[in-house]
Amino acid sequence: MKLIYSEDHRGHAGAMEMRYDEMIPMSECPERMDAIMGALAEAGFTDIVAPNPHGLDVVHQIHDPAFVNFLERCYPLWEAEFGPGHFATAYTFGMRGMDQVPNASVHSMLSCYTFDVCAPFVEGTWKAINAAKDIALTGVDLMQAGESAVFSVCRPAGHHASQDLAGGYCYLNNAAIAAQAHLNAGSSRVALLDIDYHHGNGTQRIFYDRADVFFASLHCRPQDEYPFLMGYETEVGAGEGKGYNLNLPMPRGTDYAEWGKALQIALDRIVAYAPDVLVVSLGVDTFEGDPVGGFSLQSPDYVDVGKRLASIGLPTHFVMEGGYAMDALGKNVTNIITGYSEGAAEYSAGTDRK
Ligand code: ZN
Repeated sequence: MKLIYSEDHRGHAGAMEMRYDEMIPMSECPERMDAIMGALAEAGFTDIVAPNPHGLDVVHQIHDPAFVNFLERCYPLWEAEFGPGHFATAYTFGMRGMDQVPNASVHSMLSCYTFDVCAPFVEGTWKAINAAKDIALTGVDLMQAGESAVFSVCRPAGHHASQDLAGGYCYLNNAAIAAQAHLNAGSSRVALLDIDYHHGNGTQRIFYDRADVFFASLHCRPQDEYPFLMGYETEVGAGEGKGYNLNLPMPRGTDYAEWGKALQIALDRIVAYAPDVLVVSLGVDTFEGDPVGGFSLQSPDYVDVGKRLASIGLPTHFVMEGGYAMDALGKNVTNIITGYSEGAAEYSAGTDRK
């Protein structure tokens, strides 16, 4: 499987984050990619493709252009006010029921376009965001050129970002941008399956009233976990999108036996939807030892996850999301890719026999 990756994420580093009542170094750090790429290489996945530069056309189909412009300008504006070496973050957030009118002040833009304190901006943030979107879009190009499965190793992640809100380590929604590009390239329906521990609130909001992207998310329930306000099973889509949003929330502590049942429900619904492409928002913070997660999946379980994803026989585009247990992150991601590759080989051998 081809891996699409670039080093352009590396400058997105050095900020702190709040973890309840503490300020700690960001769990979402460049070393995550070293762990993932190192483990993939050890397992023989060495076909690395650099992303091609893409403009913002597809991005603007998903995100508000004013929001995208903010992402690019935020750090330079912050540096102009405070000097170099700081990270930009919001001081206030949108006030329900009141007008939100951003102005030339970077503080007003941060207040308008972010929803939490987990989306800091440093000097290298825009370069990383822009490269991650190119990594997602290059994956689409490769599938158009005939690849049946690719892995866009994106950083920063994207699934918490919606049309005009960054948060939860996410800025542009790479998986949503990829799904849109698959549609643009001729797919009539795309399934987007989010297996990160956290609800894909941004992706849900983006496609909530659309029928051309079926969104399914397996995640920790909002009673127990971030983002706390969305991810209920009653959220099924609206308008034309009604019936095309599937939330499978589970309590903290869920193990693979239970999680696997939810995966099967999602896969059955995806098969019934009959998409042309499956996009997987690939997070492994479901791992028992994850400092940001609270489920109890074990490393070998991810091989089975990969095999089951392959079992439905769809062209599959993996897009990296979360996973923060540095000792096991590389192995867990690699297990999914290995399991998928084995499963895909078995699937094609099976269809050849028919
Ligand atoms: Zn997550």
